[in-house]
Amino acid sequence: MGHEVNNLSFIEFGVGFYRKGLELINPEKDDFSIMSGCLLLVIGLEKFIKQVLINHNPLMILEKVGFDDVLAVHKDKSTLDKRSVSLEIAFERLTKLFPEMEFQKHVVKNLIRNRNFLAHSAGNFNLKTIENNVRVNVTVTTQIICEKCLKTDLCELFGKDVWQEMLDYKEAYEEAEILELEKRISFLKRIYSEGKKLPCTSVKLSKYAEGYHYYDCPICKSAAIIEIEIDVDVDDREGIVLGAWPYPNFLYCENCGFSLIDSDEIEILVGEETLREILYSGFE
Ligand SMILES: [Zn+2]
Repeated sequence: MGHEVNNLSFIEFGVGFYRKGLELINPEKDDFSIMSGCLLLVIGLEKFIKQVLINHNPLMILEKVGFDDVLAVHKDKSTLDKRSVSLEIAFERLTKLFPEMEFQKHVVKNLIRNRNFLAHSAGNFNLKTIENNVRVNVTVTTQIICEKCLKTDLCELFGKDVWQEMLDYKEAYEEAEILELEKRISFLKRIYSEGKKLPCTSVKLSKYAEGYHYYDCPICKSAAIIEIEIDVDVDDREGIVLGAWPYPNFLYCENCGFSLIDSDEIEILVGEETLREILYSGFE
């Protein structure tokens, strides 16, 4: 690629950022390389999501649509260089085109949180956690978007080696997360059987039980509470609700004190299918 004038589609941008992001996120590299890699992967995902929107209608990526934009599309001119929507809104629009993508919302929300921290904040953070989250969640979401929305072959798009590397890492991290959780659970079971207090994060129950669901506690088999929180997106200018994103806030057993406060860990424990049922049981 030359350095004078480039003309890239969203998907070309996306693939380029994934490739570079993977190079940088290599665990042997330094922290700033890994952080840069994380940012590039999330930006790459954003480009993919916008490609889906633009495939349906070039106006769908625009923040505000004016007559000039409609005219431009009518005259077959591109909207690519116009100000486009944020990742959050782009994904919200994508789920309107593909309602089955709804379940990925809490995953994308997590990615946005990680990206926002790296891009806009400072202070304490665990790079390993962010890296795992970005690597696993970008891969999962990319796979679904390519298969369901873009109908593209992933090996062809990224090259067999790159895609295989993404999958391998994802699997390794997921396995490590599962092992970690399993190990912690067996440790806690032993502590519980010895009658000691469990060293779990304390959780404050809300006063309203409507958002509660129950799941067998892995430690003592009592009914543990899963509290579902709902993030509501409101368009402040218009005062309308754009969408609601349910996610598991915590799992807590009042009997033994076991708790999980990470939504990814709750998903690992109860499984994707069951969590989906729990999250959407109050909807429709
Ligand atoms: Zn329990």
